[in-house]
Amino acid sequence: MVGAGPVGGTLACRLAAAGIATAVVDRAPLPPMEHPAFDGRAYAIATGSQRLLVESGVWDRLLEPACPILDIRVTDGCLGRPASSLCLHFDHAEAAEAAFGHMVEARSLRVALNARMHALPALHVFAHAHATVERRDADAVVAVAGGPTINCRLVVAAEGRNSPLRRAAGIPVTYLPYDQTGIVCAITHQHPHNNVALEHFLPSGPFARLPMCASPDAQEGGAANVSAIVWTERSAVARRILTSDDAAFSAEIARRLGDHLGIVRVIGRRWHYPLGALHAHRYFDRRLVLVGDAAHTIHPIAGQGLNLGFRDAMALADLLIEASERGADPGAPELLRRYQRRRRPDNLLMLAATDALDRLFSNDNQLLRLARDIGIAAVHRLPPLKRLFVHQAMGLPLLSRGANSGQ
Ligand SMILES: Cc1cc2nc3c(=O)[nH]c(=O)nc-3n(C[C@H](O)[C@H](O)[C@H](O)COP(=O)(O)OP(=O)(O)OC[C@H]3O[C@@H](n4cnc5c(N)ncnc54)[C@H](O)[C@@H]3O)c2cc1C
Repeated sequence: MVGAGPVGGTLACRLAAAGIATAVVDRAPLPPMEHPAFDGRAYAIATGSQRLLVESGVWDRLLEPACPILDIRVTDGCLGRPASSLCLHFDHAEAAEAAFGHMVEARSLRVALNARMHALPALHVFAHAHATVERRDADAVVAVAGGPTINCRLVVAAEGRNSPLRRAAGIPVTYLPYDQTGIVCAITHQHPHNNVALEHFLPSGPFARLPMCASPDAQEGGAANVSAIVWTERSAVARRILTSDDAAFSAEIARRLGDHLGIVRVIGRRWHYPLGALHAHRYFDRRLVLVGDAAHTIHPIAGQGLNLGFRDAMALADLLIEASERGADPGAPELLRRYQRRRRPDNLLMLAATDALDRLFSNDNQLLRLARDIGIAAVHRLPPLKRLFVHQAMGLPLLSRGANSGQ
């Protein structure tokens, strides 16, 4: 496994927990990735992804309690004007599940992954290490600089969107740049969030507020109400906002959020990411398979990027564990093709849906505004359509079992 990010690290734990000898190499030093203090970043982990974290033994080791998302409210608006009265409200009870998903602090997931990776006897971790990979017909040789040379049957590229292994294999990608920057931070607010998540579509991009459980160091003087902010802005505007002081930055958040949560104040660090969507034309090559952002990167509009990566990891783990039980070759082209067949439709559908949502909502065209308000009202009135959205938000794929199983 090359890359011990959330996808590679979790997949490595899942395989090693099933007794499959696994080595994971990351170019970054893992312990410092555990930011010692609350760092403001968090992931929305869909209910469907939780299964992987549980089976990998990671969920129980989370540093802070994961915060359940019980309701999701979607509104369309303009900066400085009230949101359209046509709003969508998703209630977890409509899906008969305990929650849509959970908000998990990035730091908490990192600490849990590191603890679990080092506790599994079948897992060997080389971190802050450089690996050279040579792929041959029957096997691959991974030379860890200053460490061992590992002979293996399959190399998993989990190196994120710039994946050097994907490039070296000559796998082409389609890349869609967005002239947008994702701003991520955490806020405290006066009134409780009641586990409600908010997605507010604005002409410059979506603004999401996601409920968090307050961790002791997030509270800074006792504030118990904490939310994560994932906010998309035109890059030029984002550059200006990101350099403002805390008071001005908090005021920009309040302008977008409205006043329903009372006074808001930014806490922890601000993070920013240039946004783009990417899709690899193939998910495998000789003795190589791509997972997570190395295979696909999507717009964060629906908080589903990592969830797709976790679904890749679940599909690949199922195939590899089954192959190991049969004594079959884990790097056989047919197995890797089956993995691609299982995952590509779901990943492409989500990439297309998030791209379309961003294009439909991130503008101030009056006709499109009317169309989307009608769309919001229609979804609200059509329970089957609404259930479809709920299902997808929970990470339970839309595609039928047969289409998704790729047999
Ligand atoms: C603003 C924003 C908000 C988001 N919010 C959410 C959310 O709420 N929910 C959600 O599901 N998704 C979200 N995402 C998407 C999510 O962050 C990514 O999908 C996820 O981080 C991908 O994980 P990964 O493990 O595939 O890659 P990465 O997180 O990029 O990890 C890659 C790992 O590989 C290592 N690496 C890289 N190159 C090498 C190399 N050559 N050799 C060895 N190691 C290497 C890196 O050090 C790193 O540890 C968001 C994204 C953005 C931009």
